[in-house]
Amino acid sequence: MQILQTFFIYVPMDKLRVAIQKSGRLSEKSLDLLKESGIHLNNGSRKLKSLAQVFPLEVIYLRDDDIPQYVEDGVAHIGIVGENEYAEKNCDVELIERLGFSRCRLSLAIPKSEPYNGLQDLEGKRIATSYPVILQHYLDEHGIRAEVHVLSGSVEIAPSIGIAEAIFDIVSSGSTLISNGLKEVETVMHSEAVVIAHRNLEPGLKGLLADLLFRIRSVQAASTNRYILLNAPNERLEEIIEVIPGMKSPTVMPLAEKGWSSVHSVLSEKEFWAVIDRLRELGAQGILVIPIEKMII
Ligand code: ATP
Ligand code: MG
Repeated sequence: MQILQTFFIYVPMDKLRVAIQKSGRLSEKSLDLLKESGIHLNNGSRKLKSLAQVFPLEVIYLRDDDIPQYVEDGVAHIGIVGENEYAEKNCDVELIERLGFSRCRLSLAIPKSEPYNGLQDLEGKRIATSYPVILQHYLDEHGIRAEVHVLSGSVEIAPSIGIAEAIFDIVSSGSTLISNGLKEVETVMHSEAVVIAHRNLEPGLKGLLADLLFRIRSVQAASTNRYILLNAPNERLEEIIEVIPGMKSPTVMPLAEKGWSSVHSVLSEKEFWAVIDRLRELGAQGILVIPIEKMII
């Protein structure tokens, strides 16, 4: 009998290099997302880079302004940045996933006391911004000629110190605008954190990226869905099942009490209250809603 021998040849594995913001509004949530995806880093103390345990991945910490270019050059294979930074740098990278955190918008604002009748009011004016590329594109699109004045920070004080008549900047709650005596007049783009990737990843790295995205999507799905359990009178079971169809179909089990069933399903957070109200109308009782840790779709 022939004995088959298998030889294991050690091939050093590729590591997926991920660029995240070193310190700022994206840093903590980017690290949390990796952690929830089962990527535990060897040093959490924000060095220049850290290596993941178990998963072949390395994190490099950068200013968010530099991430798109590093990803285009292939120094980092993927990066997490604000969509605003991705649009401003206009690098040749692929936007592969929206992450739903660090939501904000880029808006035009002018002093509160100034009248505003439309974009034509900005014709010939000076607009201060850290996002000249997005702004110029928007002005060109609308046929407005204005002077774009580039500032790297503290844009909101530009009108009060007399260097611009308007600003174009990030807005989230709007409180910074209000405290600087400004009002938002046009919203130009909405932004959230996104994953960008180098265009020509080699197959090994593409495989690692697919694994990572699969984990990220499971975490995202889990955070936007809830597990729901309830007791349903059998005569309304069909209607109740229609309201909570779940991933495939709900689990239905008879209760010890005759005429009643226990129904288990999954519910999207978005439709949560509307669905709960409808279930109560249909006679559902003992409704329990439980968070889901991971959701493998
Ligand atoms: P860096 O030092 O890395 O250049 P930064 O000062 O340019 O940092 P941050 O203020 O940390 O940038 O913001 C990073 C990103 O977070 C922004 O590009 C934007 O996408 C998003 N962001 C900014 N401000 C807010 C906000 N108030 N709420 C939610 N998201 C925001
Ligand atoms: Mg920056």
